[in-house]
Amino acid sequence: MNRIIVVGAGFSGSILARKIAEECGRKVTVIEKRLHIGGNVYDEWDENGILVQKYGPHFLNTNKYFIIEFLERYADLIPHDTKLLSFIDGKYIRLPFNFRTLQQLVGAKKSENLLAKMRRAFAGRDRVPIFELLENKDTNIRAYGNLLFEKAYRTYTAKQWGLEPDEIDKSVLERVPMAMNFDERYLNKDFQYLPKKGFTDLIEKILEHPNIKVKLGIDAVSHIRFDESNRKIMYDGMPVELLVFTGAIDELFGLKYGRLPYRSLDLRYEYFDADKVLPCEIISYPQADGYTRKTEYKQFTYPRPNCIKTVVVTEYPITYDPSNPAANIPYYPVLTSDSAEMYKKYLCETEKYGNIVLCGRMAEFKYYNMDVCIEHALNKFEELRLRIEE
Ligand SMILES: Cc1cc2nc3c(=O)[nH]c(=O)nc-3n(C[C@H](O)[C@H](O)[C@H](O)COP(=O)(O)OP(=O)(O)OC[C@H]3O[C@@H](n4cnc5c(N)ncnc54)[C@H](O)[C@@H]3O)c2cc1C
Repeated sequence: MNRIIVVGAGFSGSILARKIAEECGRKVTVIEKRLHIGGNVYDEWDENGILVQKYGPHFLNTNKYFIIEFLERYADLIPHDTKLLSFIDGKYIRLPFNFRTLQQLVGAKKSENLLAKMRRAFAGRDRVPIFELLENKDTNIRAYGNLLFEKAYRTYTAKQWGLEPDEIDKSVLERVPMAMNFDERYLNKDFQYLPKKGFTDLIEKILEHPNIKVKLGIDAVSHIRFDESNRKIMYDGMPVELLVFTGAIDELFGLKYGRLPYRSLDLRYEYFDADKVLPCEIISYPQADGYTRKTEYKQFTYPRPNCIKTVVVTEYPITYDPSNPAANIPYYPVLTSDSAEMYKKYLCETEKYGNIVLCGRMAEFKYYNMDVCIEHALNKFEELRLRIEE
């Protein structure tokens, strides 16, 4: 029993494979069902010389410098403060909603009083979730919270998740808080970067190790069998020493407790004979019909010289459906009390086996950003290290 198998070549699987290969000196086979590495951070150069992130726009943001140090072993990182605008009532408004937004939405004159109240109510706070505005005891702050909620949050949430805001886990809505200042950065994280040569190049470097073999285009689930009576996991009929799984946990167990809900994205591309068409790299459209965001990759992923075209991708959220080619990628776990219950049942299944490790956005059914995925994979490795070396 000397086989270590990692399923998935996204951030989570690649980092664990690298750590096991390098620090335990063990051979690792990475199985990836897509025809490329990188998972959802995969990017590629298109025919116009623009680096396109195939599964939607990605930016690295973290407050933890050790994440940056870890990534710098594999790639040059360039600072990049992500900027977004939101298109509301025919006007472009800064996202996150900040004090400038407030002035734009209620008018400069009326804003004076409200700004003073906000500063008092949330003194010392950088960002405040919308709920705190909605629940504030001051009627003017509550009214402003309601204005934002109705113009942006409710409609955006309905499209993004296919749910009303009160049906979805609060942590999801808390991801877009209001800035209690004029800060224009989308996220108030201390370290904001992009890999100079793109994310695929970064993951390629992580996987570049003599002990790592990557096999693409293979759905691992059809090769895995659980031998429940002997508590063993078999791959192609042979027992495995360790299975690191970063795919969808419900699929691993043949959907025996039902399908966990995900949102997918139908990404539609438009090409323009122009240098630039959007006023900012990403625009959010809470009031538009069917779509949520538009991204112009050229504004942040460095076109090759002489590139005279531009490409814009529009995100249409849609229910995950493996039989529909426009919706067959499980992008976002839908976190509700029902899905949490179902996830727990799958987790109990894995606990029957001592040698399976779940890691990543899908296997753990959490809305992880890259920095959290990276930290998590590094921590999982520390838990595993002794067991692997024994
Ligand atoms: C549209 C979008 C935008 C995002 N933007 C940001 C951002 O700006 N900043 C940020 O920090 N985070 C962002 N994220 C989150 C980020 O994508 C994730 O945190 C990260 O990619 C998760 O890595 P992972 O390895 O856990 O999962 P994944 O990237 O999903 O990798 C899992 C891999 O496993 C493979 N796999 C699954 N099942 C099987 C199987 N049965 N057999 C073989 N292989 C299998 C999949 O094909 C995939 O390659 C965004 C996510 C989305 C969807």
